[in-house]
Amino acid sequence: MTQRPHVVVIGGGFGGLHAVRGLRDADVDVTLVDKANHHLFQPLLYQAATSLLPPADIAVPFRQVFEDQPNVTVVMGTATDVDVRGRSVTVSTLSDERRELSYDFLVAAVGAVPNYFGHEEWASVAPAMKSLEDAVDLRDRVLGALETAASTTEEEQRRQHLTFAVIGAGPTGVELAGQLAAMGRRMLTDQYRELPHDQFRIVLADAGEHVLAPFDPRLRDHAGRKLRDLGVELNLGRSAVAVDHESLTLGSGPGGDRETIAAGTVIWAAGVQPHHFTATLAAAAGADTDGKGRLKVGLDCSLAGHPEILAIGDMVDLNGLPGIAEPAIQEGRYVARVIRHRIGERPSPGDFRYLDLGIMATISPADAVAQRGRLRLRGAAAKLAWAAVHVGFLVGWGHKATVLTKWAWTVATGNRQQQVMLRTTRAPS
Ligand SMILES: Cc1cc2nc3c(=O)[nH]c(=O)nc-3n(C[C@H](O)[C@H](O)[C@H](O)COP(=O)(O)OP(=O)(O)OC[C@H]3O[C@@H](n4cnc5c(N)ncnc54)[C@H](O)[C@@H]3O)c2cc1C
Repeated sequence: MTQRPHVVVIGGGFGGLHAVRGLRDADVDVTLVDKANHHLFQPLLYQAATSLLPPADIAVPFRQVFEDQPNVTVVMGTATDVDVRGRSVTVSTLSDERRELSYDFLVAAVGAVPNYFGHEEWASVAPAMKSLEDAVDLRDRVLGALETAASTTEEEQRRQHLTFAVIGAGPTGVELAGQLAAMGRRMLTDQYRELPHDQFRIVLADAGEHVLAPFDPRLRDHAGRKLRDLGVELNLGRSAVAVDHESLTLGSGPGGDRETIAAGTVIWAAGVQPHHFTATLAAAAGADTDGKGRLKVGLDCSLAGHPEILAIGDMVDLNGLPGIAEPAIQEGRYVARVIRHRIGERPSPGDFRYLDLGIMATISPADAVAQRGRLRLRGAAAKLAWAAVHVGFLVGWGHKATVLTKWAWTVATGNRQQQVMLRTTRAPS
């Protein structure tokens, strides 16, 4: 009996998950390698960080996702190296064993990690959100800051703990700032009655002049206005020059003005860069990367000189597509078709073509902005579109149903059900 081609997929995020699904019923064996045991719906991480959704509602275990796909084996482990000549991937597993997985096709989909632009030392004081652990840690920091503010008798300390700064006013920063403002307003009114409301501050800072830079100017203006209405202070045109446990300093270029904001919680939402495995793969395959470190791939998502290696999602530069979920999903589905063509099962899919479904961002529990082609939506209509798209992309009917129920509950009552702190230690201040 001849062996079936073996496809190794590294990373089960949006790209990897859809590549594996696209190989359902294909005459191949698929091994999915991921350092986590779950697929994570990153666009809703901010809702886990702001006590709205429990972490398990936005993640689903791979073994559960693929229980009905017999050609898939799941390996929980971190891909650390690739031997492109011998066609094998080195994986470090939980048992600390190194496993060599040989492949006929390799699909790399390792995504991105936060980019601190050379200030890696800020990661511990200004955490970013990229994993479930990050979101839970952030939730505990926010709840811990409110409790610390409530327990201190020092006025200055209280002000500091009631100040939350978000660096980066792209969709993630805007969503986080808006949600924190809504959460803080509600909790201070009903649950932290001893705290002075006027001391609660959310600062949203960005080096650029606008919030939501990739959006139409009218939608940006709408978002800025609505954030101000929620009480969010916009601090634009200045970048972070120093961050520590007590404060954030913003500056506008060398010799420009500087402002230090006493903030007990600083959150990083200023950018991402390709996962470091991208550089490992580029070096092994002799592949080019762009100025951001993303792999340059051909129009069939393969690496130059290596048609058997396909790379997708946030780690690649393909036609300048943005690092958002939809390109990763479409590229994942596409590479499955490429593989099925190469093994003689399907006609050639041709070059990859992106179907632009637009971009959207939520501002507050009742407001969002969305644009697609010439269509512009804002307010409740955009929020409904946002909700439909996000629920649509969540994996599993159970998750869709529970998330919808929790949103409805929060909209109706204003209550957040995830206010239980798991870790009570706070960074020293
Ligand atoms: C907070 C946040 C909010 C976002 N909001 C939106 C939004 O509203 N709309 C939108 O379109 N996009 C949003 N994005 C971007 C979107 O999530 C990404 O563009 C998308 O996840 C990219 O998919 P991917 O498959 O390339 O990578 P990912 O989905 O990041 O998946 C990468 C996978 O690879 C695994 N992995 C990494 N390295 C290794 C390794 N060495 N070995 C094994 N496994 C590895 C990871 O565990 C992960 O499962 C958001 C991102 C974040 C962080």
